[in-house]
Amino acid sequence: MKMEKSSYTCSACGKNFSTSISNAGYPGGKDCESINCPWCITENGTIITSGIITSYREEKGGGDSR
Ligand SMILES: [Zn+2]
Repeated sequence: MKMEKSSYTCSACGKNFSTSISNAGYPGGKDCESINCPWCITENGTIITSGIITSYREEKGGGDSR
């Protein structure tokens, strides 16, 4: 099982989120998957992966909070 984690900032709402890619067990079956912001569900690009993308909200930092 391989897990990859990446951080993103949403281009629409500016909030931070991270994604984990879990290998779903389809070797060689790479596909273009969307990275969706978990806050506003805007697509923030796509990546080629054979796994499943899970998005997590990141609340830390930003300095944009009230
Ligand atoms: Zn967003």
